[in-house]
Amino acid sequence: MSEDEINPYFADPEPHPNPALGCIRRGLCCRTNPGWFAPGEVEKLIDWWNLRAEARGEPTVEPRELIRQFLIIDWLEIEGERIDVFAPVKLARDGLPLEPPASRATGLYGRLKGRCVFFDDAAGCTIYAARPFECRAYDCTNHPDDNPTHRSIAMMWKEAADEEA
Ligand code: SF4
Repeated sequence: MSEDEINPYFADPEPHPNPALGCIRRGLCCRTNPGWFAPGEVEKLIDWWNLRAEARGEPTVEPRELIRQFLIIDWLEIEGERIDVFAPVKLARDGLPLEPPASRATGLYGRLKGRCVFFDDAAGCTIYAARPFECRAYDCTNHPDDNPTHRSIAMMWKEAADEEA
C-alpha cells in the first residue's frame, strides 16, 4: 500500500446534528476505521489497562498478551520505506478480526472497513482515557487540514525509530 493508496476516511453516512459541537462520540469512525497510535502510546495503554485492572481486582496482562489480543501492525509506505504503526484490530461483522492480531497487516487491510476491537455499542470507546492519538485528534467536523493523516502519524513512528537508531 503506497502513500497514494491509503484508505481515506469513509464518508459520514448521516449528517452531523450540529457540527458546531464537534465530536459528539457517535462512534462512526470507531465502527469503520480505528485510529492509529503514536509512538509510546501502546506502553501507556498497557499501564492504564493494568492500573484499571488492579483497581477492579481483575488480573493484569503482560504487554505481549494485550498486543496479541487487540492490536495489529498497520503500515504505510513513504518514499519507498515501509513504516510500521500500531493500531487497534478491526473486526468483521461476525466479530472476528479481519486479520490476525499481532500480525503485520496485508495491503488489503487498510482498505477494509471494520469495527474497532475496543468499541462497544453501549459504552462507546472502552479505552477512552488511553485511546490512540488519531482518535483524540481526529474530528469529523474539522476541516481536513486540521485532522491528522496516516502519513503524519507514520512520520512520527519514523522519527522515533530514527532517534533510537
Ligand atoms: S480506540 Fe476508541 S476512539 Fe479509537 S477507534 Fe477504537 S473505540 Fe474508537
